[in-house]
Amino acid sequence: MIKEKKEMILAFPKRLLSPIKLFLEKELVHLKRKKKQLKKEDPFLDENRASENSLEEDLDEQIGHFDNEVKVKFLSKQIAQFRTALTRMKIGKYGICEKCGKMIDTERLMVKPDATTCIKCSKESEI
Ligand SMILES: [Zn+2]
Repeated sequence: MIKEKKEMILAFPKRLLSPIKLFLEKELVHLKRKKKQLKKEDPFLDENRASENSLEEDLDEQIGHFDNEVKVKFLSKQIAQFRTALTRMKIGKYGICEKCGKMIDTERLMVKPDATTCIKCSKESEI
């Protein structure tokens, strides 16, 4: 009897949804700000950048630029994931695995609120 009841719940509990939504929205603002800041810090964009750099300075800039690029890419990916999670909330699909359609463990969502697949499916896609 209890088992049957459990299977009927196919939507993420609403009372848990709003704090996660708030968290995601807040993080999104934070991430966007960070991304903007990083883009500004890109040494390639430095207007005072000397055109007659020493080899060492050039190398520093290259490394700085590359490092910056990796961070911006990482942030962009996170922003996209957070946006997806928020969109899925809007259409009532939050907490449901994209691949198998089953509920994602609440514990998993607490750790990774932007997860769109269950543990099983995410492990399978990693292989
Ligand atoms: Zn799944």
